[in-house]
Amino acid sequence: MKTYLNYINGTWMSSQSGELLDSIDPATGALVAHTQSSTAHDVELAVQTVSDAYTGSDWGSNSHRRANALLKWADAIEARAEVLAALLTSENGKPIREARVEIAGAIDALRYCAGMARNVFGRTFQPAADNFGFIMKEPIGVVAVITPWNWPVLLLFRDLAPCLAAGNGVIIKPAERTGAITAELLALLADIPAFPAGIAALVTGLGTVVGNALVEHPAVDMICFTGSTAVGKVLMQKAAAGVKKVALELGGKSPNLVFEDADLTRAIETSCRSLFMTSGQICMAGSRLLVHESVYEKAVDIAKTFAESLRVGHGRLETTDMGPIISEKQLDKVLHYIEQGRREGRVITGGYRLRGAEYDNGLFIAPTILDNLSPSSCVVQEEIFGPVLVMEKFRTEEEAIRLANITPYGLSAGVWTKDVSRALRVARQVQAGTVWVNGYNKSYAEAESGGYKHSGIGRARGVEGLMEFTETKHVNISI
Ligand code: NAD
Repeated sequence: MKTYLNYINGTWMSSQSGELLDSIDPATGALVAHTQSSTAHDVELAVQTVSDAYTGSDWGSNSHRRANALLKWADAIEARAEVLAALLTSENGKPIREARVEIAGAIDALRYCAGMARNVFGRTFQPAADNFGFIMKEPIGVVAVITPWNWPVLLLFRDLAPCLAAGNGVIIKPAERTGAITAELLALLADIPAFPAGIAALVTGLGTVVGNALVEHPAVDMICFTGSTAVGKVLMQKAAAGVKKVALELGGKSPNLVFEDADLTRAIETSCRSLFMTSGQICMAGSRLLVHESVYEKAVDIAKTFAESLRVGHGRLETTDMGPIISEKQLDKVLHYIEQGRREGRVITGGYRLRGAEYDNGLFIAPTILDNLSPSSCVVQEEIFGPVLVMEKFRTEEEAIRLANITPYGLSAGVWTKDVSRALRVARQVQAGTVWVNGYNKSYAEAESGGYKHSGIGRARGVEGLMEFTETKHVNISI
């Protein structure tokens, strides 16, 4: 069992606190690793050294160096992909097949952003015969990247790759439960000389201590946060004191809208898969399934059959479709929502904690489907972050759109129909950062994603995702 250290100024070191956090396998309760429970003092050192590395190197001005460094990191991760995927599964519980997808996504983000590093272009203009201007894109400086535990590798690199490609220095604060996998990834960066020593730091610890110290630190220029809407709101308020830039990728309660002409089996099975993936602990989970009334009962049968066919178990088994819930606290929260749903509506399938030899030491919930709930129910409105699908019925296209937009969230949505005109009409009216038509969960390094309403501010991925990590400067020349 390994104890992971912080990575600051190109050196591995213990926290000042002398205290550790446990990293626990949620499928077995076994201790996987220890990480540092760091303090504001550790943050102070990390911010100072990242700032020094940023100002004392050519990182911000040498795009070839950055592209080269990111490509080397991608290669190093690829060479250890299987070992990293296994650790991710142990620490987070997700099926190994999903863990592999995450690692591949991180590699892809690095390679995409390595190319982008050499394409951060500005513009020129000539407003008068005696004047010439140009618009430059510059790095912001020192950025804190704060990540969640649910997709701790892909989401880290979704932000880290453009942040570094744009020429910034970075301090990474991973979720408490996933510090070990993050440290293993940083260890690969540590061996690449193209990265200036100290340009990237890792400080593990509690959000309320390490995360908070980063948000309040005057020398941190930007906070890039992926996590819950509740914490995002707190960070935004705190960042206001320092007039810091924030990029927020927050929660979701995403609908799939299935019309009567859709390929019903494909629509329902894909929608279910999008929710039960990562045991429903995924921001873009299609947690609401809205179906036209004429095919509703058929859809219920398909969804029930699909949920009951899922193999729930330890993520390291190749056959596992759905793993455990991350923690006792999260398990209690999910069961609470299920009980609420049982009181207010109908349980179509599941609705209980799994028990028995294979499950007793872990935190498993049966894939659950609920319906007959009022649109105002907290089960319909709030993010459960567990394997709980809510099915709803609609009569008309207008009603489907109204129901789709009824929650405070706006992260993603799916539209299922063979009618292209309807698909475009609905896609335009649904308030969501991503709308898939006849598919779901297809994310690409080159396509922006992010939230409307309470699901976030700013965009990750794509050209806009990289530009989030830049300042814009106008230089004007009188001729
Ligand atoms: P969380 O908000 O509890 O924690 C996220 C990160 O913030 C962790 O590193 C945590 O330590 C830190 N943190 C907590 N309190 C803090 C504070 N006061 N100051 C600074 N940092 C603090 O979220 P979580 O439980 O780790 O992740 C689940 C949530 O993340 C869900 O709501 C999910 O929808 C959301 N999420 C969103 C996206 C997206 O792309 N929109 C992706 C994944 C997860």
